[in-house]
Amino acid sequence: MSYQLVQQADASANIYCPICQHAVVDWAQEQYVQPCEHTLFIAMDLGFEFVADRFETQMKQPVDELHEDPDMNIFTAISQTEYPELTIIQADLGVQNLSRYVGFSRD
Ligand SMILES: [Zn+2]
Repeated sequence: MSYQLVQQADASANIYCPICQHAVVDWAQEQYVQPCEHTLFIAMDLGFEFVADRFETQMKQPVDELHEDPDMNIFTAISQTEYPELTIIQADLGVQNLSRYVGFSRD
């Protein structure tokens, strides 16, 4: 496991790519999920909203299969995936201790 975890406590704040500063979760947009080229995944504890092919191929279980799994744990699935220079921003969803996770890498 080699990733950097950045916590973001404010549930209503946009989430920005640390590399290009693009608003990947932009609450001003109707379609608020706006992945940039560095975005590997956008997920909540409830499931994935976006996953890049280059990240999914590294995952132990493909996303569709994971979503069918009653024991699904999104953070475990993400953190067990080996990917170089992975930065994960964990943002509070503001409900029931749920989080959103957004992964970024230059690769
Ligand atoms: Zn970016």
